[in-house]
Amino acid sequence: HAKRQGGNQYCFNTAHQNIVLERNYQIDLEIKQALLRNEFTVVYQPIVNLKNNKIVGAEALLRWNNRKLGFVGPSEFIPVLEANSLIIPVGKWIMATVCSQMKSWQEKGKLMQRICVNVSPIQFKDRNFILDLKEILNETMLDASYLEIEITEGTILDIENSSKTINELKDLGVKVSIDDFGTGYSSLSYLKQLPIDTLKIDKSFIDDLDRDGEIIANTIINMGKNLNFRVIAEGIESEDQLKYLVNQKCHEGQGYYFSKPITNSQMMDLFNELG
Ligand code: C2E
Ligand code: MG
Ligand code: MG
Ligand code: MG
Repeated sequence: HAKRQGGNQYCFNTAHQNIVLERNYQIDLEIKQALLRNEFTVVYQPIVNLKNNKIVGAEALLRWNNRKLGFVGPSEFIPVLEANSLIIPVGKWIMATVCSQMKSWQEKGKLMQRICVNVSPIQFKDRNFILDLKEILNETMLDASYLEIEITEGTILDIENSSKTINELKDLGVKVSIDDFGTGYSSLSYLKQLPIDTLKIDKSFIDDLDRDGEIIANTIINMGKNLNFRVIAEGIESEDQLKYLVNQKCHEGQGYYFSKPITNSQMMDLFNELG
């Protein structure tokens, strides 16, 4: 749309695009060594039962602190990992790290119902995805029923292939959740056909609650509950949002109001605080 906006705008967009390309090039160069250099870590964001405020689980989120670029956010570096296919080995590393962390919490008596891991469409479609996952579950000895995999609506668009993989996950005992729900293009009939456990309402609809925009959030909560999904609200930041969601009987919530994503040792402190 740069051209439609006239000459000056065109120059500005081109310069901006160059900056993005240059940045992605730098990220690509550095991220190729990131696993070897131990630059990745995983943080965990608690997920809370909105009926009793108890922590039921946590979502694992990848962090990257690079020697040259400093901290780079996943929204910026995940697309680069997808483009250069490193999302496959990095995704395996995340899965192994998270499963072994969850197992080690369990061995210390720190129990949660679920640990949630984001899986990129490229990783999900990789033909070794299920095999690799089985191997990780075997090696870490984590019971598969504690693991929930988060995919987006884009991932299930290819209904034939995605339903095969989702069914294989269910056979293993792994749970499946649809992340950023409401922002993609999945049809409701797909949702009903697939053995999905959880819908995570995208943060944008939770933000709308502050602007009299409760219709979408309401509709998703009610539809999700009627179809027997567990419904989680993402990105709860305020008491007002929380009150609203509790009122609507949304099952679970996650957001800065409860906790930002925290390190594994901060998770231990939290477990100890809660007894
Ligand atoms: P997501 O899976 O939807 O994760 C939720 C994002 O919202 C996280 O951002 C989290 O820190 C942020 N968030 C949670 N609560 C709040 C809140 O109350 N307010 C605000 N402003 N933000 C909140 P993060 O960690 O930057 O991750 C961004 C996205 O990057 C994730 O969205 C996910 O799509 C992707 N991502 C992160 N880690 C991984 C990973 O290990 N593998 C893959 N494939 N993708 C990942
Ligand atoms: Mg997620
Ligand atoms: Mg999300
Ligand atoms: Mg998101």
